[in-house]
Amino acid sequence: MAVVDTLQKAGFEAYFAGGCVRDELMGLAPQDYDVATSAHPEEVLRHFPKAQKVGVTFGVVLVRRRGAAIEVATFRSDGQYDDGRRPTSVTFSSAQLDAQRRDFTCNGLFCDPIRGTILDFVGGRADIQARCLRAIGDPARRFAEDHLRMLRAIRFAARLNFQIETSTLAAISRHAAALAHISRERIGQEMRMILTHPSRRRAAQLLLATGLLQPVWPWPLEPAHVQAAKLSWLGGLPEQTGFALALTALLCDLSSTHKAHTMPEAMQKLWVLSTQETADLRFLLSQLPVLQNWKSQRVAVLKRILADSRAQDLLALYRAGTPDANAIQELEARVRELSAAPLAPDPLVTGDDLIAMGQRPGPKFRAWLEELYNQQLENQFPDRTAALTAARQLVQQHSPPRPHER
Ligand code: ATP
Ligand code: MG
Repeated sequence: MAVVDTLQKAGFEAYFAGGCVRDELMGLAPQDYDVATSAHPEEVLRHFPKAQKVGVTFGVVLVRRRGAAIEVATFRSDGQYDDGRRPTSVTFSSAQLDAQRRDFTCNGLFCDPIRGTILDFVGGRADIQARCLRAIGDPARRFAEDHLRMLRAIRFAARLNFQIETSTLAAISRHAAALAHISRERIGQEMRMILTHPSRRRAAQLLLATGLLQPVWPWPLEPAHVQAAKLSWLGGLPEQTGFALALTALLCDLSSTHKAHTMPEAMQKLWVLSTQETADLRFLLSQLPVLQNWKSQRVAVLKRILADSRAQDLLALYRAGTPDANAIQELEARVRELSAAPLAPDPLVTGDDLIAMGQRPGPKFRAWLEELYNQQLENQFPDRTAALTAARQLVQQHSPPRPHER
């Protein structure tokens, strides 16, 4: 508000623009406020000397106000798009032309917070009212300019619970294959936003129906009934769900037919996942089958899984993919039972103990420690003395007899 006020008092046009206007009209809390203005970047900088230039060629300046960063962008028209990603040039223009270069009518509104008015050059208010997601201008041309807008359409339609207008939808289906030309980073960022939002099931349904998933997915898509199962899996996840967890739901039907252990790395490359996301994906994909067969697992295996920081995600995934409520209850009862005692107690036997028994660190050494810890988790040792006795036995059983000294 203060930014708009300052610019207006200096004689410029200045409005809130895009997503924040849409969200306020819909009674949602805007994530951030963007300002569009007739002031050129150097004029914005003159009034806000501490502002940061983020994309002066595109006319964008970042002004910080009470901890929030407000993007102040000069009204502009985009020039030619040569690469399906970015305009080769921009020219500073008017509010009306600035509205026209935006992607969807619901994102093309301005609000003058001082006068309390809405400026609508694109029919955005009526479309918001009708819950309709419509490209501004000719959809085919707009998606050819910037292919990423097709994914944005899915994201907004799902998130806002809008229907995609017929010619916009048809243009997406026709141009879907072009998504393959968008950078992996941008695809990954959009997919992260799409799949971490509670509307992920509808979004995935739209991605499949429009053919947008296939160009950015390395595996063949499954038959319709498997896709339906996958969607219900996605729909069963908790509202607050991280990227790795949602992605696992999208992948786990495939993991029976493809090499599950290569999937996390493949996804990391494809959608530029972080190291943490990739590790989480690996954990969830590899441990889900273990949890699904929990009745035949040894206690130590289950306790190790439950002690992991991602256990709640894994359980959420199991619940989402298990239609049988009794099976879920049974597992939950078992989890409660196992969690009654500490899931990850300090080991009673350590490497130092094995060294004191004359052993040297190595693969065998590690395997012994692991087995001793498994036995500890299975309550086989009343105390450390019992654990050390077991360690000595293990070492003796497996150590080759010393050659006789000559
Ligand atoms: P969110 O709440 O997710 O931030 P938003 O509508 O603010 O949604 P942003 O990606 O932050 O979306 O972009 C701000 C505005 O810039 C949009 O509302 C839209 O008007 C315009 N915009 C962003 N990306 C594009 C694009 N690829 N093509 C055309 N206009 C775009
Ligand atoms: Mg925004």
